Amino acid sequence: MEFKPVIGLEIHIELKTNSKMFCGCSARHFGEEPNTHCCPVCLGLPGALPFPNKKAIEWTIRLGLVLNCQVSEESKFDRKNYFYPDLPKGYQISQYDQPFCREGKVTLKDGREIRLRRVHLEEDTGKLVHLRIDGQDASLVDFNRSGVPLVEVVTEPDFQNSEEVDEFLKSLQRTVRYLDVSDADMEKGSMRLEPNISLQLPGQNELPDYKVEVKNINSFRFVRKAIEYEIARQTGVLQKGEKLIQETRGWSESENKTFSQREKEEAHDYRYFPEPDIPPLSFGPEEVEEIRQQIPELPEAKRQRFQREFKLSPYQTDRLIETKELADYYEAALGVNGQIDGKKYSSPSEVANWLINRKIDIKTISPERMIKDLIASKEVTRLGEGEMSRIVNEVLAENAQAAEDYKKGKTAVLGFLIGQVVKKIGPQADRQEITRKLQEKLG
Ligand SMILES: [Zn+2]
Repeated sequence: MEFKPVIGLEIHIELKTNSKMFCGCSARHFGEEPNTHCCPVCLGLPGALPFPNKKAIEWTIRLGLVLNCQVSEESKFDRKNYFYPDLPKGYQISQYDQPFCREGKVTLKDGREIRLRRVHLEEDTGKLVHLRIDGQDASLVDFNRSGVPLVEVVTEPDFQNSEEVDEFLKSLQRTVRYLDVSDADMEKGSMRLEPNISLQLPGQNELPDYKVEVKNINSFRFVRKAIEYEIARQTGVLQKGEKLIQETRGWSESENKTFSQREKEEAHDYRYFPEPDIPPLSFGPEEVEEIRQQIPELPEAKRQRFQREFKLSPYQTDRLIETKELADYYEAALGVNGQIDGKKYSSPSEVANWLINRKIDIKTISPERMIKDLIASKEVTRLGEGEMSRIVNEVLAENAQAAEDYKKGKTAVLGFLIGQVVKKIGPQADRQEITRKLQEKLG
């Protein structure tokens, strides 16, 4: 039986604002001394009042706009209640029924459209650190991350396989980085991925009555593997005629499989209610337009412009737009190209190839340096008359047959002889000079 995978995604992205979501503490928590970026607000002490971070809200809307979402005219924050030691207030400030952005869509390379349900803003939790103290297992809580702004992007279950998910996630990561709103670094936890997977029975039109969510995946490769594992596992269960349950599973890197964690909570289990300390927010068309104006040139637009302006191949463009830094570097290099030595100007395509093929380290080599190296590589090696004569004679002696053939009228061997001379001189040999010399000697 052929089952059709139905896959959706929830992606959490930590914003790189200077301060946290609802207080003035520094949001730069990675690698810091534990519990040094905390105040009564992010520790949830009684009486502390949250104050929303304007920049975080604007960045969330910026991302929503890029994902073709509608920006809600009226938005509000809600309390999501649950107990866990990393959540000092006993609730997380999130958004329930009025997120900042709704109903977006993105188009995959094959033209298939993926709908986005929402893009909302919430606060991150603290972090549990498990370790051994005096021979005992212990868990300590670090609240530096507590209250860091966290955007959640939720897609509709429109993906059909792991390749589509992979393409979407990589594109989202690049977009977020181009927008400069997050590092989207999975190793540091600033981008976290949760696919949900279920299978549709043959001939079934409505969505399956369950979904399996896989939590805590920290690489694109593991997302692919987890999805493929779940499709195989669920297929096995259904083929045995058994039913699948709604549940949350974890991903084990060492065993390459998912494992059951808990049966999934429904939204009502969280007893959401409006956050009473933050008034609702509204965004009119002008404010949304203002935010839209701040959106920089994104990868797709850059790709098209590079192909148009610089006559690059799709391969070259793909490579250059991989990161905004690389694309900017390329344009900076084009800017200095030709200023250094007008005569030996390199074409945009040559500069692109040099940058890509030589794997230039753009952090340590300046665009000027790179262009100088490129120009130097094109300098022809000029030899003195005597030296050139000597090498050409040598080649003719070593290839007497070819020389004979040439004299008999097989002029096509000239190319071969030129190649032999170039081999001795080096790739920057002056081919015109060699040709002239060879013809003179074979004359
Ligand atoms: Zn704080």
